[in-house]
Amino acid sequence: MNASENGDGSERRELLRVLSERFGFKEFKPGQEDAIRRLLAGRSTAVVFPTGGGKSLCYQMPALLLPGLTLVVSPLIALMKDQIDALAARGIAARRLDSTLSLDDYRAVMDEVRSGRLRLLYVAPERFVNERFCEAIQRVRISLFAVDEAHCISEWGHNFRPDYLRLAQFAHSCRADRVLALTATATPQVLDDMCRFFDIEPQCAIRTGFYRPNLTMLATPVTDDGRVSENGTVPLGSGVDLPTEARSRDALFFEAMRSREPGPTIVYVTLQRTAETLAERLAAAGVPARPYHAGMEDAQREEVQNWFIGSDRAVVVATIAFGMGIDKRNVRYVYHYNPPKSLENYAQEIGRAGRDDRPSVCEMFFCVEDLNVLENFAYGDTPSLEAVEGLVRAIFANSADFDASEYELSSTHDIRFTVVRTLLTYLELAGHLQRGTPFYATYQFKPLRTSAEILTRFDAERGKFLADLFRQATRAKTWFHLDIDRASRTLGQPRDRLVRALDYLAEQGDLELRAAGVRHRFKVLDRPADLKAVACSLYEKALARERREIARLGQVAALVEHDGCQVSALGAHFGEPLPQPCGHCSWCLGGNRPARLPPRPRPEIDPAVLSQALSLRREHPTELGPARSLARLLCGVSSPYQIRVKLQKHSLFGTLSHVPFPVVLERVEKA
Ligand code: ADP
Ligand code: MG
Repeated sequence: MNASENGDGSERRELLRVLSERFGFKEFKPGQEDAIRRLLAGRSTAVVFPTGGGKSLCYQMPALLLPGLTLVVSPLIALMKDQIDALAARGIAARRLDSTLSLDDYRAVMDEVRSGRLRLLYVAPERFVNERFCEAIQRVRISLFAVDEAHCISEWGHNFRPDYLRLAQFAHSCRADRVLALTATATPQVLDDMCRFFDIEPQCAIRTGFYRPNLTMLATPVTDDGRVSENGTVPLGSGVDLPTEARSRDALFFEAMRSREPGPTIVYVTLQRTAETLAERLAAAGVPARPYHAGMEDAQREEVQNWFIGSDRAVVVATIAFGMGIDKRNVRYVYHYNPPKSLENYAQEIGRAGRDDRPSVCEMFFCVEDLNVLENFAYGDTPSLEAVEGLVRAIFANSADFDASEYELSSTHDIRFTVVRTLLTYLELAGHLQRGTPFYATYQFKPLRTSAEILTRFDAERGKFLADLFRQATRAKTWFHLDIDRASRTLGQPRDRLVRALDYLAEQGDLELRAAGVRHRFKVLDRPADLKAVACSLYEKALARERREIARLGQVAALVEHDGCQVSALGAHFGEPLPQPCGHCSWCLGGNRPARLPPRPRPEIDPAVLSQALSLRREHPTELGPARSLARLLCGVSSPYQIRVKLQKHSLFGTLSHVPFPVVLERVEKA
């Protein structure tokens, strides 16, 4: 049932009035009105609109019209500054709580929340481990609990985050009047999960058409010629029979750049290094191209972004980090120089083309040699069973209340940081642990006045306290480091007083202060009898995640080889096949179809490399003991242990990066 058909005309006029007066838009975009009406009627709702489809309005407008607070949870709040500023410019009180906020700013925001003045509060999902915040927010009337990137709640999604399960629990416990779950990409299975976890009736899930008639969608199998492997050591596999129709990626890509009308272009690549080199090569060929990736300074990235937004022919060669926060309507081309990680990523990335509805081209170059590098991201996140068991034993060797740094756990147990966090969240969700408010273990400060100048302003007792405090800090160049717990014990003063004093001095302009070394408090709720079994089940979860990621890459390859309309096949993945072929994808346009990818190269493993690896393992029994660790080294996949002892600089690192990881792992296990 279409809400706009049965709703009365005056309600519709009223909504359009608010839309135009408060937001400056004449009409709703598809799905917006339906979602807003359902929410205003008190029903929890899910929306699946493509990126740029106008999801935010679905909570911004109810936020104005509902009595209580609208709480917006998004992992990308750093990118939402513009959105919040835009709301403020329209006189809509919105704020965000981010981790850089000082204590006073935090308090000021929470005062606005309590007074009822604030309409929207944006927070990151991590905020819900903060006890003080949770307690404060439980006392506030939440009219709408909006969860962005809600597909993260599903294990079937491409970006599962177990902390989203905690969010769903919180939505219940804070008794939010209604929930809005938003995402740009959800398969039917993922949408089911979103509805189930957030208590949304299936008929309140709104999907807008995913089909974009203005996009030409090309998928081109290519060979990888003349490229040196990413770590610069090994030329890639040869001796594979390639079908003659598979052509050189660079020849095709540069030809496309030359022959197509210039226009704003995003070129997606997998590695930062490729972003740099490809942008350089394009620039050398006279194309206005610049790289964009997570390894660049924030200011530099912002500059590239602004340059791109303001230009009608700029080319940005980017890793996936690019494009999330920007809304540029006239992107004419989106290339995938390397394949995307999943169809979900693909749909989002090509969704940045042609938002002005004018003809635009998306072309994916699919090269089987790229699969190792892409798969290694997934393999690198799986810890060894030994590492997981070490972590589990260490956690439960603690007393009932303990604190830990996820960074330390990561480097002590050789598990990537984000994976440590995931494993701990699983222990929490299984009822073994309870997480408490994080705190900072170290404070760093840079004096802006001499200590004499500072101290004269205080009475004798306070002056002595501050002088003692300063003496506890150790100096590193211009910054001083203070281990706050140790200082608190040594001085016999409560930790709180120390922190307050530093905050106060920072506020007075006496020093610049920053907190570092986040530690998390935990309570052991249920100490498992069989630690090995707990470790095995966590390890099994990690392996399952790995299998899902690898399968997702396989789906991208399957799309390229699909014998039928590819746009329809992509739509079908998201529950929306087209009624007839699109007429503007490789398959519909193409002469030789279906496209066939060449077989994956399976190069031989040089026995000499293996024996060198085994002798290196004897030198580093801890770092390289588990077969997975040694396989990682050979495949060029770094890990916390390797970084600690600089093994990623060793000549063996990445020697077998042209061999699929499971093949290397198996050989190492047998050796
Ligand atoms: P999403 O979150 O779905 O990617 P946004 O909410 O960021 O999309 O909106 C994308 C753009 O569309 C923004 O610039 C927004 O101001 C604009 N927009 C939203 N709703 C409308 C509308 N009804 N009419 C015109 N523009 C709109
Ligand atoms: Mg959005």
